[in-house]
Amino acid sequence: MINIVLFGPPGSGKGTQAQFLIEKFNLKQISTGDLFRFNMKNDTALGQLAKSYIDKGELVPDQVTIDMLIDELKKPTDAQGFIFDGFPRTAAQTEALEKIVIDVLQAPISVCLSLIVEDKILVERLLKRGETSGRTDDSNEEIISNRIKEYYSKTAEVAELYKKQGKYVEINGVGEIEEISQKLFAEVEKIK
Ligand code: UDP
Ligand code: MG
Repeated sequence: MINIVLFGPPGSGKGTQAQFLIEKFNLKQISTGDLFRFNMKNDTALGQLAKSYIDKGELVPDQVTIDMLIDELKKPTDAQGFIFDGFPRTAAQTEALEKIVIDVLQAPISVCLSLIVEDKILVERLLKRGETSGRTDDSNEEIISNRIKEYYSKTAEVAELYKKQGKYVEINGVGEIEEISQKLFAEVEKIK
């Protein structure tokens, strides 16, 4: 089983690259952000709760996110493994995920692939995406900068935890999309 944490700040290309990785290696993508947006669209209680954080560019509380992730992970699938896109986002989530994958999948996290993109480019990309995504959190520079602030204050430390485990790999996230995919593929081949 291959279990990839696809890591990086908002706008670094996790969602885009996850699509190529799932096809190439027959994996299932779990994007907690997408799951929240699905719940928001359907106006569920979880969606309403998530919206109150997302619209401010803040993180949804750990336990809410973790419970949602466990439900998703327990669904039957033919995939050879998982890509965690946008999760974990805090140290507590990272520790929780370690236990969850062992409990539910009887397999560890294989690697954390980290897309590196500078802040200025992130803001440009997110504003551009906001023109068409319909995402309220992409449409406003203040919310975007708060998301990036949350990333540095709460999420960046996730990288340190995977580094300590020797599972952390950085990839330049600026360049041609295909060129970045090829670099990611090469890293996955190494652990296969
Ligand atoms: N979010 C969160 N926890 C997650 C995933 C998403 O709190 O595990 C919230 C958070 O407010 C974030 C927003 O949902 O800013 C959008 O997340 P997503 O991962 O979709 O955005 P991306 O970082 O990929 O642009
Ligand atoms: Mg995303």
